[in-house]
Amino acid sequence: MTQDEIRVRFAPSPTGPFHIGGARSALFNWLLARKMGGKLILRIEDTDLERSTKESEENIKEALKWLGMTWDEGIDIGGEYGPYRQTERLDIYQKYTEELLAKGLAYHCYCTDEELEKDRQQQMANGETPHYLGRCSHLTKESEAKFIAEGRKPTVRFRVPPNQQIVFTDLVRGTVSFESNGVGDFVIVKSDGIPVYNYAVVIDDALMKMTHVIRAEEHLSNTPRQLLIYDALGFKRPEFGHISLILGKDRTKMSKRHGATSVQQYRDLGYLPEALVNFLALLGWSPVGEQEIFSLEELIQAFSMDRVAKNPAVFDVDKLNYINATYIKQASPECVLELALPHLQAAGYVDGTLTAEKRAWLMEVMTAVKEHLSYGAQVVDHVDIFFNEDVQFESEEAAEVLRDEDASQVIEVFKEKMAALETVDAASVKKVLKSIVKELKLGGKKVYMPLRVAMTGKMHGPDLDHIIPIIGREKVMARINATMAKM
Ligand code: GLU
Repeated sequence: MTQDEIRVRFAPSPTGPFHIGGARSALFNWLLARKMGGKLILRIEDTDLERSTKESEENIKEALKWLGMTWDEGIDIGGEYGPYRQTERLDIYQKYTEELLAKGLAYHCYCTDEELEKDRQQQMANGETPHYLGRCSHLTKESEAKFIAEGRKPTVRFRVPPNQQIVFTDLVRGTVSFESNGVGDFVIVKSDGIPVYNYAVVIDDALMKMTHVIRAEEHLSNTPRQLLIYDALGFKRPEFGHISLILGKDRTKMSKRHGATSVQQYRDLGYLPEALVNFLALLGWSPVGEQEIFSLEELIQAFSMDRVAKNPAVFDVDKLNYINATYIKQASPECVLELALPHLQAAGYVDGTLTAEKRAWLMEVMTAVKEHLSYGAQVVDHVDIFFNEDVQFESEEAAEVLRDEDASQVIEVFKEKMAALETVDAASVKKVLKSIVKELKLGGKKVYMPLRVAMTGKMHGPDLDHIIPIIGREKVMARINATMAKM
């Protein structure tokens, strides 16, 4: 490693669905690494044994890969500074704990949960911020021996030096300072020997040679504790950058109330990974200029930490939909079909395996409807006209269109002209439609609307020259005849 190589990490706790906020943190680190020619490390912070699951870890890896974020070191691929899963590093933390204990920078604490809870209640009642009162900070050998004899299992507490100002320059927030007096000696190793996040993270970031720690704002209040540990262990401090919270449109913290919050949910709804990445990049970072649609490559070029905003980012699902719709418009029919297929299956439009012929037909359907899609799941609102041979008027207004005096003539001429066509494709159908407008000297709407209603029952939808070849001449004729017979 050269001296100036940028090393950043994404260090998720695998304790549940992979949240949009986590993906945004991963993305900012990934963009920084790629932009600076540095390295992204993926480390799993699984010291919360009760809540961590393998399933969640798999889910995170899968989501990162889907979003196109690759890592250079970390779980699965290894690297010089592994292992990269915290529960596989317990002996490493143990060594540093012994060092801190030996130097008197940490101590064993035998307080029971009940004692601590009582202190907490008392402090709250006095209007104080709860903090450890230091009961075990200077135990005599005798009292310690007594506690051990009672079978108490100690935690290890970090001894917070009094009267210190903990100051650092945050890449996003500028100078941040905390008073050590408000912190209180805190637990670094639990009574079962498992280190807590604030402790393990420091040892890992230091040993894994991180140059920058870019993470969510909710960790800002953890940073003073972490800095005290850096200093106590003589580690070099990395640069920190705390990226702002993600709020819902009502400016409260983004939660399930605001709709989908996990990457998997967006994937399931039929969003494209490129679009989601594009949207996530704009959650807290702003490019120079007005451009909103960025490829991954363009994001890498344009990204910089100095344009990451301090104020909260607002998750605007309409903007996400706009971005996704833009990508869908440009996507190949195969790709749109990929997004739409699970929804077509769930709605019963297609079943089991697709024949090559059916697949090709579905791709034509996708070409016809993709203009109208913000995400894949919406496909079901647009495709019934291709599947449903039994035309029903969507409204009385639609039926009314066919009662217009010119409607039957339009339909008769259309049927004749269609019957005479050699091949039915978008170009030939377009010609037929134009010639009817011209010959009957009617406005376009007076021609298209009755035809559309007669073959679909609806007043709006994809262009007729698209849908007629897809439905096919015979079915179009049969539908029109059946509809007109009802009039
Ligand atoms: N495991 C922590 C989390 O998932 C990581 C915080 C950090 O990046 O330091 O929130």
